[in-house]
Amino acid sequence: MIRTRFAPSPTGFLHIGGARTALFSWAFARHHGGKFVLRIEDTDVARSTPEAVQAIIDGMNWLGLAHDEGPFYQMQRMDRYKEVLQQMLENGSAYYCYTTPEELEQMREDQRAKGLKPRYDGTWRPEPGKTLPTPPAGVQPVVRFRNLTEGTVAWNDLVKGRIEIANAELDDLVIARADMTPTYNFCVVVDDWDMGITHVIRGDDHVNNTPRQINILKALGADVPLYAHLSMILGDDGQKLSKRHGAVSVMQYDHDGYLPEAVLNYLARLGWSHGDDEVFSMQQFCEWFDLDHITPSAAQFNTEKLNWLNAHYLKQAEDERLARLVQPRLEARGVMVTVEPSLAAIIALYKERVSTLNELADAAEVFYIDLHPAHELVAQHVTAEAKPALADFLAGARTVTWEASAISALIKACIGKHGLKMPKLAMPLRVLLTGQTQTPSVDAVISLFPRDLVLKRLAAGGIE
Ligand code: GLU
Repeated sequence: MIRTRFAPSPTGFLHIGGARTALFSWAFARHHGGKFVLRIEDTDVARSTPEAVQAIIDGMNWLGLAHDEGPFYQMQRMDRYKEVLQQMLENGSAYYCYTTPEELEQMREDQRAKGLKPRYDGTWRPEPGKTLPTPPAGVQPVVRFRNLTEGTVAWNDLVKGRIEIANAELDDLVIARADMTPTYNFCVVVDDWDMGITHVIRGDDHVNNTPRQINILKALGADVPLYAHLSMILGDDGQKLSKRHGAVSVMQYDHDGYLPEAVLNYLARLGWSHGDDEVFSMQQFCEWFDLDHITPSAAQFNTEKLNWLNAHYLKQAEDERLARLVQPRLEARGVMVTVEPSLAAIIALYKERVSTLNELADAAEVFYIDLHPAHELVAQHVTAEAKPALADFLAGARTVTWEASAISALIKACIGKHGLKMPKLAMPLRVLLTGQTQTPSVDAVISLFPRDLVLKRLAAGGIE
């Protein structure tokens, strides 16, 4: 049974890199009919916040990455970590170290002065035949892991290939602080063990932790999971993705008008491929996803491609669903959405032309607000030449059958009568009715309005 986990630290929002890690872990479990565990690594009490926990859960919900187990909170598992610490102290795989932080600092300075790599000198490390110093009074010891000094620790990383580190390179890691709170790497190990994680899929900023975690797992007699370390995501400019790139929080994409399926599809292709397939559903992704087609090199963010995918999914989406997503955006701008004109109908006409929900909201907004077209546009398009045709259109609009084809026939009749070309009438109609010069076909746009509103806007534009 495949078991994966997503183990964010709740110190900020769910960012794009974290979301991709979650997506890959989720899809791998789904692909194999396994379980996906959500674990909140909240032991950094100073930096963890309930808001960040909520932001992570909101982000996962928005993306639809449902976990099968959890969320487990590390802060609620302290007793278990202490129990394992005790076992390790008893079986000799961990030991108390009374070296004070000041002594440790001094030790490091001396080592650096001698050109050595700073490390713990092993004073309190038990060895066969070694007599340990007497614990000093009044010093609360930390607990260190008794790492192997010989040999190597190696794993076949499912993304990066074989990685091997000499044990001599690894210090005796502090696994519990002086107040007996367990440290980060130790909690991860106990959790991955207890939660039966078979595949650890995570960012490659954790590669350095892996040899330590493997050694501790082995000391516990636990099965060592397989590891897949995902390369980082670079920004559009090839630089490390950071706040500079603006929309790094997943919920920012929601705010900016992206559909979750577009973001998911986009993330799926960040560092993973299935032939030339660019557009696919999450169902297909779960069917196809494997760790063999993850690239070890960094993936580069491409906003244009995300926009292209979002435009694609907007076209596919049901009008009613998009209306439900656009309405709150309009309301947030103070725009009251009324039954008429129908938001879903507006969306049906405009969704082919936009790449975000916010652009849909921009397009829809003019149907609901008290419109005041820009004077320059009015002056430019509502010309003396156009006015008689506009007046005829207004007269005809009072009685014409209110549908695009009849409205189109009315427009044609008006331009025919006055010997005008189509834009001469279409443009002032666009400007007076929407304040814009670019819209879908003008008859279709007009048919979206309630008749009264068209009459009112034309009259307000001085047409009579
Ligand atoms: N809590 C870690 C982080 O947010 C992830 C740990 C892990 O996946 O092992 O970076």
